Amino acid sequence: MNRKKIVAGNWKMNGLLNEATVLSQEVVNGVEELNSKEKLNDICKVILCPPFTLLYKVKEYLSNSGVALGAQDMHCEKKGAHTGDVSPLMLKDAGCSYVILGHSERRTDHFETNKVVAQKAQAAYENGLTAIICIGETQQQRENGQTIDVCVNQIMESVPENANADNTIIAYEPIWAIGTGKTPTCDDVEEVHAAIRHALIQKMGKENADKISLLYGGSVKPSNAKEFLSLADVDGALVGGASLNAQDFLAIIKSVL
Ligand code: PEP
Repeated sequence: MNRKKIVAGNWKMNGLLNEATVLSQEVVNGVEELNSKEKLNDICKVILCPPFTLLYKVKEYLSNSGVALGAQDMHCEKKGAHTGDVSPLMLKDAGCSYVILGHSERRTDHFETNKVVAQKAQAAYENGLTAIICIGETQQQRENGQTIDVCVNQIMESVPENANADNTIIAYEPIWAIGTGKTPTCDDVEEVHAAIRHALIQKMGKENADKISLLYGGSVKPSNAKEFLSLADVDGALVGGASLNAQDFLAIIKSVL
């Protein structure tokens, strides 16, 4: 199956207006250069996911570059009495096409369960957003040999029945690899991605499941990106820390070429 690569930058709770302006402009300039020299857009989709406060501003810089805008979370209702929350309609209005859901930091800091993630994903679909649904095991679960069971269960419970390749991307992010500099081996990543693909096939049938992109995330850097992105069934990367530096993020993007 020939799926386009995806490199998404998750800025997390980082970035003030000035920094975001410089960072998004540098990324866009780099991507535009890669488009004109190497036809990057035919091979790879680049997505930037800044914090809510910067969505509008970053959108201005993305304009015709082909770089897409994503948010890092959302509420499942369109509007209403939910102080501090942001709705899928608001994300669309701000120019988003994507939304990260079920990131381990949301699951830990805000006690988001698989059920909540599935509700949010459903709301994303209904509002024309593509959900980047994150799953992954803790260090303890890996040590206990539960990685595959945990990840398959998260897929079964967090991904809605009507998921398809247009509305869903899956990101496998071992929690112990996020922001730590530690990474799984290539064999580990291939094993988990194969299990995710198998679970998706059970859920939605082979034709649909085979089209869904599976990203790896967790301490992806310029020095290891090529290794991960060339693995079987790894369709791209969800990048945290390294997406805050334009040169590093562009180097990761270049590794798909
Ligand atoms: C993330 O937050 O999704 C992530 C993968 O972070 P990092 O690249 O910093 O490990």
